[in-house]
Amino acid sequence: MSSISKHRKEKKKGWKDIPIGGAITEQKTSLKNKTGSWRAIRPVLNPKKCTQCMMCVYYCPENSIHIDNDNPERGGIDLDYCKGCGLCANVCPVNAITMEEESVFGNKKGKNDKEK
Ligand code: SF4
Ligand code: SF4
Repeated sequence: MSSISKHRKEKKKGWKDIPIGGAITEQKTSLKNKTGSWRAIRPVLNPKKCTQCMMCVYYCPENSIHIDNDNPERGGIDLDYCKGCGLCANVCPVNAITMEEESVFGNKKGKNDKEK
């Protein structure tokens, strides 16, 4: 018997026999992965320019721009998860968000950033 036909006769593993690989088995695991640690530029909001259109909230891929349910205004930018992609600044129709070099701030959070 050739090695090819022998291989074809071997019983293949079913899905129950294969060990769990990259499966996510619990909820909210992304909360442990603070994507803000690799940010090189940070969004800075000018509240005087902001018209509360919420475009930045909808576009942020990290859901880092929070809405305070008791207040129609946003709850600040969560720098633990903001990765500095700049989408929020790009979609803002009134240029209320500017992206600034992270080195300017050191380890400090900005005035409009959500405190942890
Ligand atoms: S820079 Fe990117 S990740 Fe950070 S708040 Fe703006 S859209 Fe979200
Ligand atoms: S997109 Fe600009 S104007 Fe709209 S809520 Fe965000 S910061 Fe304010």
